[in-house]
Amino acid sequence: FLLCLQFFVGGNWKCNGTKDSISKLVSDLNSAKLEADVDVVVAPPFVYLDQVKNSLTDRIEISAQNSWIGKGGAFTGEISVEQLKDTGCNWVILGHSERRHVIGEDDQFIGKKAAYALSQGLKVIACIGELLQEREAGKTFDVCFQQMKAFADAVPSWDDVVVAYEPVWAIGTGKVATPQQAQEVHIAVRDWLKKNVSAEVASKTRIIYGGSVNGSNCSELAKQEDIDGFLVGGASLKVYFYCWA
Ligand code: PGA
Repeated sequence: FLLCLQFFVGGNWKCNGTKDSISKLVSDLNSAKLEADVDVVVAPPFVYLDQVKNSLTDRIEISAQNSWIGKGGAFTGEISVEQLKDTGCNWVILGHSERRHVIGEDDQFIGKKAAYALSQGLKVIACIGELLQEREAGKTFDVCFQQMKAFADAVPSWDDVVVAYEPVWAIGTGKVATPQQAQEVHIAVRDWLKKNVSAEVASKTRIIYGGSVNGSNCSELAKQEDIDGFLVGGASLKVYFYCWA
């Protein structure tokens, strides 16, 4: 049977923007014509969450780009899940490759963050993806499955999780995965969920693609049966992309 999951478009603004540029983007988003049957979520930098929450239409949900592993307290520089909820955020991106490979977060640490965020009612965009050398060594599935296992070992339920497959070599490089390359991993991840979690979770969990998605390559990717949405970095800083969605 054909899966028909609500399409999901996430805009990961990363460490970009100023009060002014964000105010412009928010006003563009507020007047944008978005498709009714697409979930749209944006992830501004922490310091602008409040500004965005107070000015953005409720049609679009707000995500953080990271969260702390547990309750707040003496953790200099961290932001707790409770604080994120207090600003009106209801999603968090965890396991992004920039957190894994630039900051050095490991699978277990990311899994614990996901479990804590879910336990407090935040929804999670759980990112996985292989490095170029891992792909070239034929280890794409191994790497993705190991990252999936760390999430699966930690999270009590997949109801509020969206999986984002983002091959690291495609992120911010302009080198998008071909629709076939993406579909091949998406279907493998769905199959992994079926074997290791349940058939129900496999059929209900959205698996979105990220890595150099833009207005010109998104339609072909979206046609793939197991691509249920996108996580977009660079192109998410302009309103054009959301309108396509
Ligand atoms: P990109 O980033 O669209 O700029 O490649 C995607 C991401 O990191 O989520």
